[in-house]
Amino acid sequence: MDTQLYDTVIVGGGPAGLNGALYLGRSRRRVLLIDSGDARNMAAGVMHNVLTNDGATIADFRARSRAELAAYDVTFRDDEVTSAGCDGGRVVVTTKESGTFHARTLLYAAGVRSVLPAVPGLADLWGRAVFECPYCHAWEMRARSFAVYGGNVPSECLAATLTVWSEDITYLSDRRVLPRDERDRLVAAGVPVVADGISAFKPHSEGVEVIFEDGRSAAFGALFLHLDIEPRVDPLRPWLQAPDLESVQTDERGRTSLPRLYVAGDLGRNMQQAAMAAASGGLAGMAINADLIREDRPGSLPEPPPPRPAR
Ligand SMILES: Cc1cc2nc3c(=O)[nH]c(=O)nc-3n(C[C@H](O)[C@H](O)[C@H](O)COP(=O)(O)OP(=O)(O)OC[C@H]3O[C@@H](n4cnc5c(N)ncnc54)[C@H](O)[C@@H]3O)c2cc1C
Repeated sequence: MDTQLYDTVIVGGGPAGLNGALYLGRSRRRVLLIDSGDARNMAAGVMHNVLTNDGATIADFRARSRAELAAYDVTFRDDEVTSAGCDGGRVVVTTKESGTFHARTLLYAAGVRSVLPAVPGLADLWGRAVFECPYCHAWEMRARSFAVYGGNVPSECLAATLTVWSEDITYLSDRRVLPRDERDRLVAAGVPVVADGISAFKPHSEGVEVIFEDGRSAAFGALFLHLDIEPRVDPLRPWLQAPDLESVQTDERGRTSLPRLYVAGDLGRNMQQAAMAAASGGLAGMAINADLIREDRPGSLPEPPPPRPAR
């Protein structure tokens, strides 16, 4: 049984959690980082737009980050956190395999899940020929033909953005009736609309094949779409005492309106990109360090302004 009192337990070993660990480790804090190894971008295999790591595999980025953190008092557990709460001024974190841990603060950086529309075949192509973020993937797919799936949410701005990378873009509205402004923007972008219902997506030597309800099909180099996201906050539910994390107020450094709870990464206020997630983890690390100094040396630092409503 681990009876140590950590300064911070970090839930999540993606860019946000790892960078939070780096700031806290370098602040001479005792840190436990728990990660279930199931990153949001794992389907893509590699990451882009992170200087010195453009094109690095996610596994390699994580392994090298952990190796760097070995210089500091940072302990890793490959495990899943099942609950996290606060009891008598102490954070209590319970995991599936390795038991319970105690800490003065919790940095929650568990990320979000992308939720794909329920069209058969889409999930199998996710991260290989089906993508959400042009900045992450369009360069590798440039000059191919693109489809933009606009059947679930308006995606005309995504289609217009993609014109930088391809001149051959088709908007698939999957029977959804497009409002006037959406149609006008697609016309302005020079993107034609195919309104036929879609029954499935399949792998194709070019990238992705769209199977329409009437049996016809069309091949594209890649398909882009907007997705819903699901915050991975289940372990926090009892502590939040609110329907979701968005109801908890945060400041720019990831402090929440709940004492001892901090958030960073895709779950926080930043854009959902690896470098921004890492930056927010660093900011949260600084906030935690400052708040622990406040606790240990009352009056030594001015109080931060109270968190305001998130997003
Ligand atoms: C397909 C795809 C490709 C992408 N490509 C890029 C790209 O090229 N460049 C870019 O900048 N951004 C990219 N992104 C966005 C990027 O993945 C995220 O912005 C970034 O990973 C967010 O970092 P994070 O640390 O907040 O969360 P994540 O990287 O998702 O890490 C969260 C970690 O928390 C762990 N976790 C969750 N719940 C628990 C729990 N209960 N207990 C323990 N651990 C838990 C997970 O296992 C995971 O390892 C991509 C996203 C997707 C979906």
